[in-house]
Amino acid sequence: MKKPTQYMRFSALLVASSCMALAVAAHATKSDADLEPWQLAEKSEVWEPVPPVVAAPPGEAPSDAIVLFDGTDLSAWESANDGGEAKWAIEADGALTVVPGAGGIRTKQAFCDVQLHVEWRSPSEVKGEGQGRGNSGVFLQERYEIQVLDSYENETYPNGQAASVYKQTIPLANASRAPGVWQSYDIIYMAPRFDDAGELEQHGTVTVLHNGVLVQNHVKIEGTTEWIGPPQIHAHDCAPLYLQDHGDKVSFRNIWIREIKEL
Ligand code: MG
Repeated sequence: MKKPTQYMRFSALLVASSCMALAVAAHATKSDADLEPWQLAEKSEVWEPVPPVVAAPPGEAPSDAIVLFDGTDLSAWESANDGGEAKWAIEADGALTVVPGAGGIRTKQAFCDVQLHVEWRSPSEVKGEGQGRGNSGVFLQERYEIQVLDSYENETYPNGQAASVYKQTIPLANASRAPGVWQSYDIIYMAPRFDDAGELEQHGTVTVLHNGVLVQNHVKIEGTTEWIGPPQIHAHDCAPLYLQDHGDKVSFRNIWIREIKEL
C-alpha cells in the first residue's frame, strides 16, 4: 500500500474538519428546534444601549432641547453684523419680528448635526411679490438657507420658494399657509464633513417638514446657498444658526434645537 502523501493527509484533515463543522451546525439547528418560540424570540433581543428618556409634552419643546427663543428674551442670540445685542423686536404676543435694516441674527452657540423646530409668520398685510414678499431665511451653520417666503399664491422661481434649499432644491410640495398664519419648519440637518486638509469628505444633508408636510427628503446640500453663482464649498466647523433680515417683517416663535448625537 502506498504511503499517504502530504496532500492526502491535508485532504483528510479538511474532510474531517468539514464533517465536524456540519455536525456542530446540525446540533445548533437541532437545539434551536427544541426551543420554545419565546426562547427563539429572546435570541434577537438587544438590551443595550438604553435610549435616554426625553419628555415630549404636546406643543412644547422636548426636555433635552435647547430653547433658543420662547417668546421672552433674546439671550441666546446676537447681531450677525457686529456680535452685539440682537436688535429684533419681541412683540406683545411673544413673536420675534425682523427689524428691517437691523441685520440678521445668529445664535451665540455653534451647532453641527441638529433637529430644529422653528415657527414663522409672514406679514398679514401683503406687500410686494415674488422674492419681495415675506422673505427671510433659516440658515443652517450660517451658510445653508432654507428659504422663508410668503409662497401662498405668490409665484417665484420654485428653487427659491418657501422651504427650498435656496437656489438648490425645489421643495416636494408647497405647503404654505396664508399670510399672517403661523407656519412651522421641522428640520433634520446633518452637517458636511471635512478632512484635516479642509477637503470635503461628505456633503451635508437636510430633511424638512413644512407644516408637517415632507418637502425636503434627505437632500444633499451642494454648498453655500448663493443668490448669484454656484454653491461654494469652504471647510468650516460647527457654526451658529442664522436668521435673515431680508427687509420684511417676518416673525418667529418657538425656536428649539436638539443636537443629534450617537446613542
Ligand atoms: Mg431668504
